[in-house]
Amino acid sequence: MSLAASAQSPQRLNVNLDAAALAQSLSGKNYVNGQLVGSVSGKTFDVVSPATRQVVAKAAFGEAADVDAAVKAAKAAQKEWAKLTPRERGRMVSECGRLLELHAEELARLVCLETGKALRTECRPESKVLTDAFEMFGGLGSEIKGETVPHKSDMLVMTIREPVGIVGAIIPWNVPMMLLSLKVCPALVAGNAVVVKSAEEAPLAVLRIAQLCGQILPPGVFNMLSGMGPECGAPLAQHKDVGKVSFTGSVETGKIVYKYAAERMATATMELGGKSPMIIMQDADLDRAVDGAANGMRFTRCGQSCTAASRMFVHESIHDAFVEKLKAKVDAMKMGDPFDEATDIGTVISPGQFEKVKNYIAIGEKTAGAKAVRCSTLPSDAKLKDGFYIQPVLFVGLDNNSKLAREEIFGPVTCIIKFKTYADVLAAANDSEYGLAATIWTKDLKTAMDAAHKLEAGFVQVNQNVVVQPGLSYGGFKQSGIGKEATLEAMLEHFTKKKTVLINLN
Ligand code: ADP
Repeated sequence: MSLAASAQSPQRLNVNLDAAALAQSLSGKNYVNGQLVGSVSGKTFDVVSPATRQVVAKAAFGEAADVDAAVKAAKAAQKEWAKLTPRERGRMVSECGRLLELHAEELARLVCLETGKALRTECRPESKVLTDAFEMFGGLGSEIKGETVPHKSDMLVMTIREPVGIVGAIIPWNVPMMLLSLKVCPALVAGNAVVVKSAEEAPLAVLRIAQLCGQILPPGVFNMLSGMGPECGAPLAQHKDVGKVSFTGSVETGKIVYKYAAERMATATMELGGKSPMIIMQDADLDRAVDGAANGMRFTRCGQSCTAASRMFVHESIHDAFVEKLKAKVDAMKMGDPFDEATDIGTVISPGQFEKVKNYIAIGEKTAGAKAVRCSTLPSDAKLKDGFYIQPVLFVGLDNNSKLAREEIFGPVTCIIKFKTYADVLAAANDSEYGLAATIWTKDLKTAMDAAHKLEAGFVQVNQNVVVQPGLSYGGFKQSGIGKEATLEAMLEHFTKKKTVLINLN
């Protein structure tokens, strides 16, 4: 059904701003072959609101049999899907984007319910990036071009871009809608069918997205499974018919998944963790740097971002002023009910993450010379007493070799480390097993360009810190991953196969 037709029938649009009711309506389901279906075994698991610890829905407990059913549906659908012209596929992906835009508030509320991220500062902007990605990739259908290759005068040599076939996408919980879009949109436009395995903590909003897209896409081209990593993610990554695995998550899991793909020479993209440095030089505009640091550390998302600026290197001459200003900035952020329009910072995702982050804070506090500067205020409302709220912490006095500066915490905890010289700070910034993102603040163009060249990271920003956006190539160096996302080049490189054709003209 076209969007124009569905727009004329509001009941078909069925926007549901009651997140709890919508969660219930999606309860216990996967989306396979154009239908909401229970898992083959009938098993489910609880979806828990991190703000209340209440069970808000069940999710289908997907296993190998569900993966098989979804891959089978994808395989059957992909052949016809690939026969459409690329622009026709792109048009349908754009149409999905417009439908999702009509549901943007609904999706923001659903992701707010399941993740505890603040609606105003995090969930609505995530909805926006989601629809933006559908719009951008939807317009790229005609760009799936091959090349003609100069070779011999009596031979026509060309390359053709073909779909991989079936893409298995495994996504995490921190920005599930956005990360889904960076995989599903290019995969579909390139002529693939997709099976997504959602994160166990956040299966609902992405399930709703699949269901909505199912109003426009043919059944089977976009399937959504929920389940645990080993029981559902592993069989998807191992499936013989999945030609491409696109993974976002931790380094540990990424290595397991990459090995699964390697077993059958399937291609894989790995978007993994980070411990991203942010350098604030002596000549930086301090107020802008403080704003950028608060944003770069994603305090509004409780630091649950792989690009979070979790190592801030500040020149010794401005260190104390920076800490004071950053504290004031984060103090002004309100922690509270994620749905409250006044709330800037919601909760962390789960009991496991809650304990893990608190444990890191305890380790930091016991480290000689370190001091924890706690910011903002825990909510006092009795209704929120069960929520996984963690006060943002700025650690000062830690060394770049300390545990907190080396390991990804994925919480609202950043290390602020003093430096003396540019050479020192460059060496320290690069002294990490990760290489996802980096930022430098300086008014000196030469220093900025030098750092842009020398920082070992896939996404470098100077005098700003914005979040990942469709159109900007994104992906890490070193242990932070393999491959890029979010661009035309990423679509061509990772979601198509390049074939060389030689035609003898004699
Ligand atoms: P986190 O610890 O933040 O949840 P993970 O990397 O473990 O990060 O999870 C990212 C995604 O990978 C999730 O969808 C998760 O279910 C999935 N996953 C976890 N373990 C495996 C596995 N062994 N095989 C495939 N997918 C997995």
